[in-house]
Amino acid sequence: MSLIVQKYGGTSVANIERIQSVAKRAMTVHEQGHQVVVVVSAMAGETNRLLKLAHDLTDLPDERELDVLVATGEQVTIALLAIAIKQLGGKAVSYLGSQVKIVTDSSYGKARIKEVQGQNIFGDLKAGKIVIVAGFQGVDLGGNVTTLGRGGSDTTAVAVAAGLKADVCEIYTDVDGVYTTDPNVCANAKKIHRISYEEMLEMASTGAKVLQIRSVELAAKYKVPVHVRSSFNDHEGTLVTDEENTMEDILVSGVSYNKDEAKIAVRGVEDRPGVASRVFVEIAKANINVDMIVQNVSHDGKTDLTFTVPKGELKKAMHVVEKVAKEIGASHVEVSDQIAKVSIIGLGMRSHAGVAEKMFSALGQEGINIQMISTSEIKISVVIDQKYTELAVRILHEAFGLGK
Ligand code: ADP
Ligand code: ASP
Ligand code: MG
Repeated sequence: MSLIVQKYGGTSVANIERIQSVAKRAMTVHEQGHQVVVVVSAMAGETNRLLKLAHDLTDLPDERELDVLVATGEQVTIALLAIAIKQLGGKAVSYLGSQVKIVTDSSYGKARIKEVQGQNIFGDLKAGKIVIVAGFQGVDLGGNVTTLGRGGSDTTAVAVAAGLKADVCEIYTDVDGVYTTDPNVCANAKKIHRISYEEMLEMASTGAKVLQIRSVELAAKYKVPVHVRSSFNDHEGTLVTDEENTMEDILVSGVSYNKDEAKIAVRGVEDRPGVASRVFVEIAKANINVDMIVQNVSHDGKTDLTFTVPKGELKKAMHVVEKVAKEIGASHVEVSDQIAKVSIIGLGMRSHAGVAEKMFSALGQEGINIQMISTSEIKISVVIDQKYTELAVRILHEAFGLGK
């Protein structure tokens, strides 16, 4: 008998028929003699609908109340799934994050899980019930509802799997697994059968939203085997696991993109020690995540400081940056939300030279201008004009021979 955690995303619970199909899938595994915990997301589109309601009221909704609001999406699906299982003759019980308890810090909208208590779950599993847990949400030490950031149900699932020492965490979604690039953008993307935690982490952090970044971090830390697969068929998906010897043989294993960042440039900043820190200290205080940072070579003692932040935090960031820019005597601040980050990822980059050169020349040949660059040991990212995103993804996918 194994303990299996299954997570179903928004499209997998998009309507009553899909919820009935999830109920059957969970029951089939349960009938094979396994213990089953199911984590669900809100129905497709629901979280966006809720966010829009709040943003129709104000540009900067209160963050605590926003979490109370968006957490309701998952409350609907856990209840519907439990009802569906009971209707089919099974035993089930649903729990909110605060009932499990999934304890988080108090960073509303991007809370981090501190602990999954979950003692009650074991009793239910012994009693033959399928336990259904609301994804994406937790509770802080003060009893406030928190949410884990977009795509956070993946993280709930892996955290629950780690906390309960489950044998596997299955992530059911609307594609057959992790592909060499987004299969909805590149028709000849190939399914990857096994991928290392490290590569998956880079793919997730550069925009491959098939898994939330934090879920991969937790999976790697607690060695939870993650199986990404489709809820629409029975095909084997992708196993996310420890690195194997042969994995470095592949130079580039994936291409990803992210259109959810915006670029802020603080122009005409005095080039002396401490100036950059003023800007980034204030941004950090506002709890905004900065991704890429570039500082230009200075001219006449002045330089430009350019960086990217999540689009969802742009208004908050601009509020802070405009203020600091004045204080440090910068000439002005420019913003662009028409950018995209395109990245290539592969363990093979550790041991092969010339990858960046190949990437830049492939983009250059198509006339795609590179605005910013950042690298890690196994990743190269570039910021480009957003209108070239899909083109850039396909060119790089082709250039590194990733197609079928
Ligand atoms: P869910 O609602 O099930 O959590 P998501 O929409 O969050 O699903 O994630 C699945 C989507 O991730 C796919 O529909 C696909 O468009 C996108 N995606 C991006 N990059 C990749 C990739 N490399 N492999 C597979 N899917 C990817
Ligand atoms: N419902 C949340 C979202 O749309 C969490 C998730 O789907 O994982 O981001
Ligand atoms: Mg998701």
